[in-house]
Amino acid sequence: MKLKFRKKTIIKVIIGIFILIALGLGGEYLWSGHQMKKHTGSLTKVIDPTSYFDSYEIIGIKNVNIYTKDSASFVTRNIVLKNGKIDAINDVTDLQSNIDYINGADRYLIPGLVDTHAHLLNSKNDLYLYLANGVTSIAEMFGTDTHLEWKKEAKNGAISPNMYVASSKVGSQKGFSAEMSKNYGGAIHYQTIEEAREGIATFRKEGYDAIKLGSMLNTETYTAIIDEAKKQDIPVIGHLSYEIPLETLYSSGQSQLAHVEEITKSTMEAFGGVAYGDEEKYLDYLKKNADSIAIKLRENNIAVSTTIWLMESLPKQKFDLNNFVRTIELKYANPGVIEGSGLRQGWLPGNNEYENPEILQDAERLKKSKTYNDAYVKAIQIMSSALARNNVTVLVGTDTNVAGVVPGFSFHDEMKSLSNVGFTNRQILDASTIVPAKFMKMKIGKIEVGYESDLVLLSKNPLEDIANSKSIEMVFFDKYRIDENGIKKLLNKIEDVNNDTRSVEINAYLK
Ligand SMILES: [Zn+2]
Repeated sequence: MKLKFRKKTIIKVIIGIFILIALGLGGEYLWSGHQMKKHTGSLTKVIDPTSYFDSYEIIGIKNVNIYTKDSASFVTRNIVLKNGKIDAINDVTDLQSNIDYINGADRYLIPGLVDTHAHLLNSKNDLYLYLANGVTSIAEMFGTDTHLEWKKEAKNGAISPNMYVASSKVGSQKGFSAEMSKNYGGAIHYQTIEEAREGIATFRKEGYDAIKLGSMLNTETYTAIIDEAKKQDIPVIGHLSYEIPLETLYSSGQSQLAHVEEITKSTMEAFGGVAYGDEEKYLDYLKKNADSIAIKLRENNIAVSTTIWLMESLPKQKFDLNNFVRTIELKYANPGVIEGSGLRQGWLPGNNEYENPEILQDAERLKKSKTYNDAYVKAIQIMSSALARNNVTVLVGTDTNVAGVVPGFSFHDEMKSLSNVGFTNRQILDASTIVPAKFMKMKIGKIEVGYESDLVLLSKNPLEDIANSKSIEMVFFDKYRIDENGIKKLLNKIEDVNNDTRSVEINAYLK
């Protein structure tokens, strides 16, 4: 009898423990699910874009200065857009009857801009921020099933930029950190070469346009991935893994390096690491080597997606965040993204992924950290100048939704940063249009008959000052257009839905 009672008790206790574990796991599942939704922007209402955009079958722009196909200059022409394509480019005297022409006199028409390093996360509102800023094509650099779905919708005529979708980040980490980055970051970590080959073979079929490499990749897996990708005819792009030196990259078959930073990080490694006090010596070393690195990248057809504005912002975010947030278009950024969640930090003071309040309290550490970070940025600028001088295939990319990088708006900041390090305005315009178009194999980026009708009408000449890329009067894409007034209303609407979702007030941080 006594024994029986004990057995029952034990069983009850065991059942109790199981229930607690199940509740715990369920709770953790629900909690993490909600946190993921928050920091990926899913909790913000998605606007209905239809009322801000006009659709047309055929439209003309007369007397407009168009960026010519040899990219040399602007010439004045009439242009006709029909069913989402450039249908005709005529002399200014040649006006077709029964076509409505917009007057393009003293305006400048450039191809739609291409952001080659976007992170869309989960809110379609970002798509409209791109369009409002003249960015009519984007490369998503951490793709998911959702992004493949959006890409399909864009192809089928939805109001959206064209989408090029790279896979989620692949690596070869093992153990706890691999599990964490898989569960909460969506990264893929191959544990064996066979697994890597099998995994890579599926991406093309699923609709991905490229394989995105992360930094945590060993040499054997890196080599196997590129070999398998070649068989599948899918480009391999992304980071330079911590194990791969530049010398290996050149002949690897990796066709794009995401971030100039990947090059400078590698040179720091080759220098033997940069300790406090070594910064100037390292920068001299980089200056001596930057041109030959750039030449090898060019000779081996390795394109570089820039993302240098973000890097330039790092010291500002680390040491002067309160002022930094006032320089960006914070109100349009998704509130979930900027507030962060229990799983991921956001952008705002007190919860920013780059901010380190401890350092700010310690004068000695602060001095060292500032010196290091300034040199870190300087290195990226030195390397970028070398890319410009040596005509490397450069693609403008921004790394949107990383702290400080607002979709669409950040593209113009990136262009300005490129100008500051020595790219000519023509180089920048090409790196924003025709060069990425060729890399992505899309019929965009050129004002020529037969190309997609993705265009931006500017009131000021961007060849005179690249900041004129912001003087947007109208954006055309597919069979849609949006004018200044529509852009204003669209942005107001996005601001409204953002305000409805905010749990942290941002008035103190606005421009
Ligand atoms: Zn990125």
